[in-house]
Amino acid sequence: MRKPNILLIYTGGTIGMLKEADTGVLKAFDFDSLLVRIPEIRLLDCVVETVSFGEPIDSSNMNPEYWENMARIIEINYEDYDGFVVLHGSDTMSYSASVLSFMLENLEKPIIFTGSQLPIGDLRTDAKENLITSIQLASLHKEGIPTIREVCLYFEYKLYRGNRTTKINAEHFEAFDSPNYPTLAESGVHLKINHEFLIKEEFKEKLIVRTQLDTNIGVLKLFPGISEPLVKAILDTNGLKGLIIETYGSGNATTEKWFVDLLRKAIAKGLHIINVTQCFGGSVIMGKYATSSQLKSIGVISGKDITTEAAVAKLMYLLGYNISFEEFQFYFEKPLRGEMT
Ligand code: ASP
Repeated sequence: MRKPNILLIYTGGTIGMLKEADTGVLKAFDFDSLLVRIPEIRLLDCVVETVSFGEPIDSSNMNPEYWENMARIIEINYEDYDGFVVLHGSDTMSYSASVLSFMLENLEKPIIFTGSQLPIGDLRTDAKENLITSIQLASLHKEGIPTIREVCLYFEYKLYRGNRTTKINAEHFEAFDSPNYPTLAESGVHLKINHEFLIKEEFKEKLIVRTQLDTNIGVLKLFPGISEPLVKAILDTNGLKGLIIETYGSGNATTEKWFVDLLRKAIAKGLHIINVTQCFGGSVIMGKYATSSQLKSIGVISGKDITTEAAVAKLMYLLGYNISFEEFQFYFEKPLRGEMT
């Protein structure tokens, strides 16, 4: 039987960085040297080929153009490979995994994002395990059908649904978590796949890559004492089409008149406002408390248990479509790629 073909897409991040001798600053280096540092890849039971961004980036410089670039690399190579591993900086990895999950419609192959907290050349690096296990996970198949058929993120022995993740630690090797959805697989002595949580949908249509994103959006985190001029200034932003409000608890916000009036007027003018909780886990349930029912009644959209990262991705993605205000609310509140419950 033929070995699975895996394409490794190197975008940048700590995994491929080197410390500059004079300043100690971490900077990306070229991908060929990365492979020299992990000869173990050749021992895997799959064929690994690589493609790299012309100029690898620190993921803090991630933007929609790079997302389109990644999606096009996958599109061009989709028929020739059984799975894809994307090496990416951890800082914005959850955003990229979320965006790619929306961009790739009818996906039936694994796209696994991974990276590391320490560069591959560091003696104590976490890069090798992350990379090798990601490739193994991307190679899993049964009778020619890939086991994983969605956009995932693998880090420190755990495979997560990408659009459910959030970066939780800048220092620990366990840098990610998926607060509202179980892990898809765990790596111990054996690879344990939690089949019941994987997306199993089979599509009649081929892969469609949708790259039209609209970045006219904002994120506003509420805090006690937030001022009217600040909220007004954000809502008055030229061209703003969508705003995510990070509220308290299960979607609660101040009931002060000026706040509700500002939101009501903005919605009436056509702004999509999404309610996402600033809690690490749990869900927005508008109407549970009096402090959220006013939001529901003025037409705020519920983000349910979506992460802010996935909400940013979904908002940019849905704004790229020419749909009515009602359809927009309908699609935002409905899980499209397993990003909400
Ligand atoms: N600043 C780095 C990046 O996101 C951090 C990392 O790779 O983990 O590109």
